[in-house]
Amino acid sequence: MDQISGLQAATLLPVEASDRSHILALLRLGDFSQDAFLATDTRGAVVYMNRSAERLFGYRSGAAIGLPVDALLPEIGDINARLDQEGARNTLLWRGRGQHRQSGLLQLAGAATHIPSPSGRSHLYVMRQRRAGLNDADRRAELAALVYRNTSEGMLVLDPKGFILDVNPAFVSLRGRSEADVIGRHVRCLNSPCHDREFYRAMWRAVMDTGSWQGEHWGQHINGELYPEWLSINTSFGDDGEVHRRVMIFSNIAEIKQAEAIIWKQANFDRLTDLPNRQMFHDRLEQSIRKARRSNGRIGLLFLDLDRFKEINDTLGHAMGDDLLKEAARRLSACVRQSDTVARLGGDEFTVLLDDVREPRDVERLTRSILRALAEPFRLGVETVFISTSIGVTFFPDDATDAESLLNNADQAMYSAKADGRNRSRYFTASMQERAQTRMRLVNDLHLALDQNQFSLHFQPIVDLNDGRVVKAETLLRWHHPVRGLVSPAEFIPLAEETGIIRALGDWVFCEATRQAAEWRQRFSQDIQVSVNISPAQLRHEGLDLAFWGTHLNTLGLPSRHVIIEITEGLLMDSDDDRIRQQLEAFREAGVQVALDDFGTGYSSLSYLRKFDIDFLKIDQSFVANLRQGSADHALCEAIILLAHKLGLRVVAEGIETPRQYELLAAAGCDYGQGYLFARPMPAHAFESLLQAGTDIRPGRAQGRDAAGWASGR
Ligand code: C2E
Ligand code: MG
Ligand code: MG
Repeated sequence: MDQISGLQAATLLPVEASDRSHILALLRLGDFSQDAFLATDTRGAVVYMNRSAERLFGYRSGAAIGLPVDALLPEIGDINARLDQEGARNTLLWRGRGQHRQSGLLQLAGAATHIPSPSGRSHLYVMRQRRAGLNDADRRAELAALVYRNTSEGMLVLDPKGFILDVNPAFVSLRGRSEADVIGRHVRCLNSPCHDREFYRAMWRAVMDTGSWQGEHWGQHINGELYPEWLSINTSFGDDGEVHRRVMIFSNIAEIKQAEAIIWKQANFDRLTDLPNRQMFHDRLEQSIRKARRSNGRIGLLFLDLDRFKEINDTLGHAMGDDLLKEAARRLSACVRQSDTVARLGGDEFTVLLDDVREPRDVERLTRSILRALAEPFRLGVETVFISTSIGVTFFPDDATDAESLLNNADQAMYSAKADGRNRSRYFTASMQERAQTRMRLVNDLHLALDQNQFSLHFQPIVDLNDGRVVKAETLLRWHHPVRGLVSPAEFIPLAEETGIIRALGDWVFCEATRQAAEWRQRFSQDIQVSVNISPAQLRHEGLDLAFWGTHLNTLGLPSRHVIIEITEGLLMDSDDDRIRQQLEAFREAGVQVALDDFGTGYSSLSYLRKFDIDFLKIDQSFVANLRQGSADHALCEAIILLAHKLGLRVVAEGIETPRQYELLAAAGCDYGQGYLFARPMPAHAFESLLQAGTDIRPGRAQGRDAAGWASGR
C-alpha cells in the first residue's frame, strides 16, 4: 500500500525521465522511514505523503494528495522562497508549525529540498515532531525513563516470577553489581545475611497479598559491606488483572540513621563526660524498677556530689573544672560493674544505679572504693587538686518503690553525708525522711509568718572592752511559731533564703531595727549603733532596694552612722559579681558601716579585707569557745586582731561566755565583745533597761541575763 502510493505519487511528479529512478528510490525510502515525508508539485500541491506523514497530520491513506501544501505547513512559504533563491542543490533545515487535520497545531522540525524538473521546481519535505510537541502520555513515559535513569534511588524491575528484568544505574552503584551480573537472575540473589529466611518469606507474602511492602532492610554491597536501606516493593498489574511487573526501590538511609543516632545521643548522654544524662538515667531507673518488681530483686541507688567543687571551678576556671569532672566520671565508671549505670545529672552531681544488689555489704564495699578513687589527687595541667565526695545511698524496695522517691531519698542521704562532715557515705533512714517533711512544713508556715506578725527582734549588747559600756547592739531575728514555739534563726534563715522569703523578711528586719535605733537615739543620750545581719541571698539576684532603705532612714531622721550591716565571708567570694560589690560600696558611700561576721569559718582570706572597705571584723565564736592561754586559738585570735588593726579595722569577739575568755581577748587588744558573759540577746524593752542603767557590764559588774528564753543551752 505504501509502496503503491509512493509509486503513484512518483508518476505524478513532473520530473525528467533520467531523474525519475533517483526520485523513486528516494520516495521508497520514505515509505520505510519513521520521519514524515511530503512532496509537492510545482504548484505546491501535495503529490506524495508517506505513512508517517499521514499519521502525523491525521489523514487517511492518500487523503491529503492534491491539497495545497500550506494547508499542512502554513508557514512553509518562507522556506520555499529561500530554496528558490539559494539554488537547486541546497537543502534547508527548518522549524515551524504544521496543521493537524483535527487536533490543531504541531511543532515540527525538518529539512526541505528541491526536486529538479524541467517545468519548474517541486519540493520534498522531511520532518518530525519536535520534542516539546510530544503528547502527554509520551511525555510522561519519557519523564519516567529520565527519572529511572537518573534518580539516586536504586530501582529494579521483576517479572511476575521474581526474575530480574532490569536495574537502573543507581542500583548498580548502590550494590556495586553490574547489570549483566543481576539481569536474568532471581531476586533471591540480593538477599542479605542480616535477615533470615522468615523475614523474606513474610515480605514476599505481603507483596503477594497486597501488592506492596515497605520497610527497613540491610542491603549488602558486592564488597560485603552492609548498609541500612529503605525498601519499597510495588506491583503493576496488566489489563487482565494479572501481575505484570514488580518494582523494587532501594534508598540508602545510612546518613539518616547516623543523624538519628547523633540526635539520640545528644538527648540522652552528657556531652562533657559521655555518661548517660538525667533523661537517660530516669529511663534506666524506671526500667530497673520494672525488672526488679518482676524478679523480686533489689536495686541500689547512689547519689554523689563532689565536695567543694564550686571552689575549684571558681579559683581554677571552668576549663579545669570540666577536666576534673571528666576524670571523676572516668574513675567512677571504673569502680562499678559493666552492668551498672553511672550517670551525670548535671554540675557535680552523679548517680550510680546498681541492678540486682544481693548484699548491702557489696554496696558498702563499692562506696568505699568510690570515696578512695575520688580522693586520689587530680592532676589538671600543672595543678594538683584534691577533692572528696559525699554519697547518699537508698534501696528499692526497702526505702521506696518509685523512681522519684528513690532519688529524693538518695539526695537526702547525700545531704546528711555532707552535714556529717563530707567525704563519706550515708544510708537513707526514716528519720531523714521525717526531717525532710518537717522542713517542708516549716517552709509552708514561713510563708504565712510575716503576714501574721510571728517575728520579733532581739538585741544583744556589744560592749566596749576598754570601759565596759554598751555601745552597739546586734539585731537577731526571732520566730514565734504558733505550734513549735521559738524557732532558731539557724533553722529558718536557710529556708527563708531558699524560698526567697528572705528579701521581704530582710526588709522588715532593717525597718524594724532602725526604727528602734531612732527611738533610742531620742530617748538616750548615748549613741547606740544597731547592726543588722544581711544574708547573701538578699544581695544576689535582684539585689536590695537601696533607695527604699535610704528613704526609710531619712524618714526616721536616723543618721546612717548608727547602722552597721553584717555580712559573711562567702559573699565576698562572689566579688566577681559586680552587683554585690556595687551594693556594698553604695552602703559605704551612704555612711553605713560594714562588719564581716563569723570571721575564720570560711575562706578567711585577708586579701578580701583589703579589697573591700570593711569596718569591723567579728571573730567567730568557735575560736573564742576554746580560748586558753597559749592555745592555738589564742595565737590565732592575737594574730587576727593584730592584722585587723594594721589594716585599720576594729575587732568584735563573738560568743564570750567566761571571764577568762574576756581577759585573754582584752589583753590581745580586742576592741569589742559580745556574748552571754555580758548579756544574752533580749527584747527591746530589756535592752532599754540596760541602757538606762548605763553601767559597766564587764565581769564582776555584769548582770548576764537570759532574756531570749530559748537561747539558753546555746
Ligand atoms: P550571728 O550573726 O553570728 O549571730 C550571733 C549568734 O550567736 C546569735 O545566735 C547569738 O544568739 C549567738 N550568741 C551570742 N552570744 C553567744 C554566746 O556567748 N555563746 C553562744 N553559744 N552563742 C552566742 P542566733 O540569734 O541564734 O542567730 C544565729 C544566726 O542566725 C546569726 O548568727 C545570723 O547569722 C542569723 N541571723 C539572725 N538574725 C538574722 C537576721 O535578721 N537576718 C539574717 N540574714 N540572719 C540572721
Ligand atoms: Mg551576726
Ligand atoms: Mg557571728
